[in-house]
Amino acid sequence: MHCPFCGEADTKVIDSRLVAEGDQVRRRRECISCRERFTTFESAELVMPRVVKQDGVRQPFDEEKLRSGIMKALEKRPVSIEQIDAALNRIKYRLRATGEREVKSMQLGEEVMTELRQLDKVAYVRFASVYRSFQDINEFKEEIERLSASSGETAVDVAKALADNHRPEGKK
Ligand SMILES: [Zn+2]
Repeated sequence: MHCPFCGEADTKVIDSRLVAEGDQVRRRRECISCRERFTTFESAELVMPRVVKQDGVRQPFDEEKLRSGIMKALEKRPVSIEQIDAALNRIKYRLRATGEREVKSMQLGEEVMTELRQLDKVAYVRFASVYRSFQDINEFKEEIERLSASSGETAVDVAKALADNHRPEGKK
């Protein structure tokens, strides 16, 4: 790399170490011409794909928006912040792993549902009811019954939690 002081084409690395818990390499370099020293940092470029909404509008990936959507579904549910962070990281990892520069917002929604299904059945139904517009009420009922059968919660519990969630603000 060029020397930022004199422009010399060659500089040598005199020290190299891992920083930021191993996510970065910090290098001390010395110019072979003017002997000035400087530091460079190297880290992996982790670019999240852009999100394509259903109307075709492209938006930058918004982690905070994703987090708040998940938090809202998990309101008053027994799921820790650590579990939520881990779920978010898995979603981000899978999106990056596609290698695509753009993902459909629907795919993002499916990823969230995959995680919520593991974390908390009630949150999953809350999210799915808003996100995935079920074809009809029977399809929705079947989904609730399937979930309650696998989670041990009764269909009534799941449906009740769902109804609580849809009650207007301030009446909870
Ligand atoms: Zn130099």
